[in-house]
Amino acid sequence: MPDELYDRQTRIPGWEQRKLDQARVVVLGSGTLAQQLLVNLAGLGVTNVLLQSNGRIARTKEDYFLFGFPSMESIGKPRIDFIERELLQLNENFKGRLKTFFSPFDEGDIAAFRPDAIVSAENDPAIVEHGLVYCIRHKLPFIAGSAGQHESRFQSHHPSSRVGLDSLVRSIWCEEKQNPQTSGVLAGGMADELRKYFMPLDESDLPSPEKLHKYSLLRTTRTEGGDTLEPIPYRDMHPFKALVVGAGAMGNSVAAQLALAGFEQIDIIDRDTIEFSNLSRQFCFRGKVGQPKAKVLSERVKEYSPSTLTNPHQRFLGANDVVFDRGEYDILFGAVDSLRVRKLINAYAVLHKLPYIDGGSSSLNGKMRVYFPGINRCLDCQLDFDAELAKEQNTTRQARGCAQAAPSVIIPNFVIGSAMVGEALRFFYRKSDKEVLGSEIGANTHSLVYNSSERQRLYVNQERYEKTCGGCT
Ligand SMILES: [Zn+2]
Repeated sequence: MPDELYDRQTRIPGWEQRKLDQARVVVLGSGTLAQQLLVNLAGLGVTNVLLQSNGRIARTKEDYFLFGFPSMESIGKPRIDFIERELLQLNENFKGRLKTFFSPFDEGDIAAFRPDAIVSAENDPAIVEHGLVYCIRHKLPFIAGSAGQHESRFQSHHPSSRVGLDSLVRSIWCEEKQNPQTSGVLAGGMADELRKYFMPLDESDLPSPEKLHKYSLLRTTRTEGGDTLEPIPYRDMHPFKALVVGAGAMGNSVAAQLALAGFEQIDIIDRDTIEFSNLSRQFCFRGKVGQPKAKVLSERVKEYSPSTLTNPHQRFLGANDVVFDRGEYDILFGAVDSLRVRKLINAYAVLHKLPYIDGGSSSLNGKMRVYFPGINRCLDCQLDFDAELAKEQNTTRQARGCAQAAPSVIIPNFVIGSAMVGEALRFFYRKSDKEVLGSEIGANTHSLVYNSSERQRLYVNQERYEKTCGGCT
């Protein structure tokens, strides 16, 4: 196991890479949810995997995530063969450890593999039931997830619990096709639940058997409860032009989901080149160490969505950057960890009254903030950039000489990045302003939080405005 690949996450207190490396997991399913789950497992370093499915490649967006836009020759071929090839490129630790079997559920094959857990990413209740029955009999953890067009949900079953099989299978069941964004939010959550079974960081970092974890674009709460919203119309392509600032773990997730949603144009700006230690989390890069991140991510966008226009820019975003000159974007995405860059994006968004969706992450947690002109106030009002920058300068001075802070793992980047694109579609097709995340209540606005250490891991948070910038109202 090349430790360098997981170098960043092993700095998180309590992290034991060896436990993830040794875990043996069966994954059932090969649609976009299974594919996105496998990418999260690769990021964590869970590569002892048996993948079972009899799915075949079709020309639907469910099939684009790991293969790119399927070629004519690949249509009708088993998905598992393509997934295996892609995963071996994604993470070399799968070599000799990843096994695939062309069957929806083969008990003999699973028994021979001796799994420590089974994860189902199938929308077929019969397969979920097979998996659960096997896990109850063999006293193994079981996680089942299901994704639809607007909603996705998962639940886990602990060997010691007594939940009725019926209620688990029925409660997670989504009938429709798996949508890439709802799948993305769920895949990160399921991978985190699995991690908690194998490698809790401390005694409070435990899985939540029997709790139904839900993501919903049809509810104001984005989970359960709250007002019911209008469905978002399904289109192969959406006529919107997006700028993605930052091509790290969050930028990878945002750009991939925008491409799968079929945005008309996706421009990407990032100064960095790809490093070896990026490869586990930044799943679009596939071993292209040394190449510019913006360029490689743009190439990946083209693979997912050949008719999308895309322009890579390899540089820092500067004040009055020429990328803004043409004023052609319909929406801005911030996928950076720099307050300075956020401040620049925000200034441009306020000046041109453009929506700005910002995602941030730290170790296992993430957050999305939005600025929707005319609906809520800007990120400077929410965050007070100058005060935060001053604080940051002070802590940097104090922390000089100390070890680098632990960076985020793939999970929160995946959850929040997918939700950012879901929220953009919610904004463009909203029937009323109440449907979008930012909608104000008095002196408050909303953000979406993924917090791995809380029982309700995904939730909408009310936040007070910190200041009045004077420019955005
Ligand atoms: Zn403002």
